[in-house]
This record gives sequence, C-alpha cells and structure tokens, in this order.
Amino acid sequence: MALKDYEFWFVVGSQFLYGPEVLEIVAARAQEMVDELNNSGALPCKIVYKVTAKTNKEISDVVREANFDKKCAGIITWCHTFSPSKMWINGFASLQKPYCHLATQYNKEIPNEEIDMDFMNLNQAAHGDREHGFIAARLRMPRKIIAGYWKDESVRARLGDWMRAAVGVAFSKELSVMRFGDNMREVAVTEGDKVEVQSKLGWQVNTWAVGDLVKEMDAVTEAEIDALIEIYKENYDIATDNIDAIRYQAKEEIAIKKMLDRENCKAFSNTFQDLYGMEQLPGLASQHLMALGYGYGGEGDWKVAAMTAIIKAMGEGKPGGTSFMEDYTYHLVDGNKLSLGAHMLEVCPSLAAGKPRIETHHLGIGMNEKDPARLVFEGKEGKAIVVSLIDMGGRLRLICQDIECVKPVMEMPNLPVARVMWKAEPSLETGLECWITAGGAHHTVLTHDVTSEQMRDFAKMMDIEFVHIDKNTTQESLEKELFFADVAWKLKGV
Ligand code: MN
Repeated sequence: MALKDYEFWFVVGSQFLYGPEVLEIVAARAQEMVDELNNSGALPCKIVYKVTAKTNKEISDVVREANFDKKCAGIITWCHTFSPSKMWINGFASLQKPYCHLATQYNKEIPNEEIDMDFMNLNQAAHGDREHGFIAARLRMPRKIIAGYWKDESVRARLGDWMRAAVGVAFSKELSVMRFGDNMREVAVTEGDKVEVQSKLGWQVNTWAVGDLVKEMDAVTEAEIDALIEIYKENYDIATDNIDAIRYQAKEEIAIKKMLDRENCKAFSNTFQDLYGMEQLPGLASQHLMALGYGYGGEGDWKVAAMTAIIKAMGEGKPGGTSFMEDYTYHLVDGNKLSLGAHMLEVCPSLAAGKPRIETHHLGIGMNEKDPARLVFEGKEGKAIVVSLIDMGGRLRLICQDIECVKPVMEMPNLPVARVMWKAEPSLETGLECWITAGGAHHTVLTHDVTSEQMRDFAKMMDIEFVHIDKNTTQESLEKELFFADVAWKLKGV
C-alpha cells in the first residue's frame, strides 16, 4: 500500500451529560475539522471521522474495527467536551494501532461577549484532554501527544509527520526481506535475532540462493535489458564505454526485482563474499532499485536493508532522499571537521546533488570477475539524520544522530563511488564518542526526508529503545541514559 492509501480514524470523546444538542454540535464540528484538515493539503493521508464516543461499548467497538482494518494506520483522539476516561479503558487496553492524542480546541479565541456557562460546557478541551491523557498514562500506552490549535500550520505539520511514522509502523509489520547469501564473515553488528525482530517489528527475514538469482538472470531477455537501459539513459549520464557492464547490471536489476516482487519483498541484502555465478557485484542495479523504493543493505546487513525500506516508505513523495550509507573516513581539519560517507558501490541516487554518472571501475574486494558499473555523484546539502538499528541481546536499540550534509569540500576525482559529506552533531568528536558509546553501526540509513522526532515516534510505537544524539548530547549524559535504560529494559522484560 502507498502512503495515500492509508487512513487515520478520528475518535472524539464525550458523554451523555450535556444532552443531544451539544453532542450534535460536537459531531458536526469534528466532521468540519476533519474535512478542513483533509482539504488543507498538509497531511499525507486521509483522516476519517468515526464517532463521538459516549460509552465503553462505542470505544471498544471502534478500536476492534481499527485493529482489523488494513487501511487504518492509527487512531487520533480528542475531547471537545469532558469524556470520563474509565469508559476508555477496555478499548485502549485492546488497541493494536498507533495512537495520537490531539490536544486541541475548536475555537481559537475566548469570546469576550459570548462566553457564559453554556459556552464553557461545550468548549472544555482544556480539562477534557487532561482526563483523557491521564488514562493513557495510567495504562502506560505508547502515544503521540500533539498540543496546539488545529488550524496552525505547525500543528498540521507535526500531525502529518506522525502519520508518516505510523505508516512506517504499518509498512514494517508487513515487510519481507530477501537475503542473498549470509552476512559478511565475522562481522558482529550486522548479526541479529530474526525471531525477536519479527515479533517486535514484523519483518519476515529469509534467505534465497544466489544460484536461483543467477538462473533468474539467465532468463532475462535482451529486450528487457534494452528497456531498462533507456530508463538509465533518461536519468543518468553514461560516462563509460563499457556498455556490456551496464547491460550486465541491468540484467541483475531485472532478475533481483522479479524475485523481490514475486515474494512480495521490499528490501534485500547481498554480500560480495557470495556472488557465485555472477560477474559483478550489483552496483548500479542496487542503486536503481533503491531509487525505486526498495531497501538495500550491503554485506548481508538485513537490518539496515529493512530500515532503508521503512524510512523510504515514511518519506514517500518528499524531495530529499534516503539511502543505505556507510561511515568511511574523516576530514579532521580544525574548524571544518567532516565525515565522508560512501559505500563500495551502493548509495541511492535520491541523495544526488546533480545528475549521477554511470562509470565502471575495478573493484578489488569480493568475487568480481569484471569491473562493475555504478552511479557516481556528490550528495546534496541540507539537514539530515543517520539511523542505525542494533541488536543488544534481548532488545533492539534504534540510534539516531542529527547531521548536516555539505557540499564535499574537495573533488576527489579518483574516488570511484558516490560520496556524501556531513557535519555531525554536536561535533565530530563528541558525536563519534556518543555513537560508539551507544554501539551504533558503521552502516546507517541517511535521510533528508524523515526527522529524529519521527524516528522517536516509530521506536515508541514499536516498543524498542531509542537513542538520539543531537546538538545537546554529551557523552556523560548519554552514558547515564544508557545505564538507566539498560536496567529499565531488563526490568521491563522482553
Ligand atoms: Mn559496508
């Protein structure tokens, strides 16, 4: 399902005490708010007004319906009036969808002349939303709370961001990952408990034989390759005479895509240590598949492949770009300390500042018999994040760091791969000390389209640990946070 196919259900809390006239006004206004929000163009998905709930049964019924409706990616609640929240307990206790409490108010201003006790009885979100918030706190519900006037742009933007994070949850719960070969030998951080990951995040992670991919490649026709070459020509500059290498990558891409689509997989991993029967490590092939929205992880890193796919789904339609990334090397000059990210071949061209070039170069690492074609480009500038999911043994930890991508400060004409340069928060050194303290991987997802707040929301909804390294983080504060988190997660039990 695409982003626009998901919907969110608006459930407004109330009670019978006010009489039918007030309830009619509440329902009409709730519908008006939903219509206006949907027409504003500020939200990525549709909101559907479901009910002004006055009883335990109405709430339990709508939650039951939401749990089993594939299109419903979450519920949004609000209390125009007072809604005694014991009537919410049964519904909330069985809720299996993401939940946002929109603490807002129908009117913007307190009307000086008009305000009397009738007005107060109708417009009492200020205490209705407090009663409503208590029961979710009491039930330890994972939730998003957004407070502010519903017509404000910032409120709508935050609601839209949360919707995208919730769609990430829905996407994650349906996600299948195709592994070609195992992880790179001896690497620790790309390992993980696939059973734990499936129970927490929903991912079905399974392996397919490289030999089956080779068979699929053998069945690709010249006409299929011709058609894909035309797409490459439209999107990229061909800067090599080695057309055979490009055609070989096209053949790999077509075969991988057929297998992914047949098995309904939205992400894949492979490893340069297992290319049995293949002439080239897929470079251009993996890069163009990422541009189409598939997640990818190198060296068998299925966790980063899955996270790339999820973050791409969360950022669908945004202009920035999202890719599999690897921290490679540093520029340690005072006043301008930078990280250089790249990979052996596979960086998504959605990050490119200009038109990527297709080049072929020798690749010494791995089983390559021939020089693989790949896209080479500079990454675009702007605020971004890098994200790493690691398995701590007994729980998953999602680590997110704020960065700012810059135009690479040198041309690096002999570097034969796509490159992205960035400044890390709070500084290269402290950021690095914090990243290492938290155990973050060398592989990450780099995105311009999804924010740290959205990743925090995602982690909360998924009930996994979240670590954020931002401009205020110190190693001392992070060490304390991780120490207490370790104890808390053990107490919590998994
Ligand atoms: Mn790597």
